[in-house]
Amino acid sequence: MAEGTSVNGVASSMSNKRQGYLEWDDYFMSVAFLSAQRSKDPRTQVGACIVNEDRRIVGVGYNGMPRGCSDDDFPWCNEGVTELEKKNLYVCHAELNAILNKNSADVRNYTIYVGLFPCNECAKVIIQSGIKEVIYYSDKYEDKITSKASRIMLDHAKIKYRQYQPTNGQIVIDFTSLDEMKDRIIS
Ligand SMILES: [Zn+2]
Repeated sequence: MAEGTSVNGVASSMSNKRQGYLEWDDYFMSVAFLSAQRSKDPRTQVGACIVNEDRRIVGVGYNGMPRGCSDDDFPWCNEGVTELEKKNLYVCHAELNAILNKNSADVRNYTIYVGLFPCNECAKVIIQSGIKEVIYYSDKYEDKITSKASRIMLDHAKIKYRQYQPTNGQIVIDFTSLDEMKDRIIS
């Protein structure tokens, strides 16, 4: 088939393909961000999305309390409380949950999209699970010891990581859009 032609021999520029559709990176990071909206943490909502080599989603997760540990009974703060009352002792991070929630046999050589650069504990889980690439949005804790330790481990384990560059500043989900589309077609 000649370059620039479709299966019907029509020039591909005539296919009327919709413009402005979501690129893969935007799509998977959006799934991670949407998952984060399930989090009960009042300060930090982080989501993660694991994708296989065929660009299929095999796991999603967000930061939350372990199963059986009620969101209402466990603490959601880290300040002004005793050590045992700090959330960090209990919360499962998004990366851990996404890996544990996987619907594939394993996640070897897969890619994880995550809102925040992984902490050292998540880096260990990522490395041990066989994930080969991390795509993150924010690196706001870059100077924290947990991020530094994470980078050291990811580098040694030869896990690729890169910061996600959004195509657009925001992606809006409009539940009314399909109804509006129907109106446009009828009129
Ligand atoms: Zn973590």
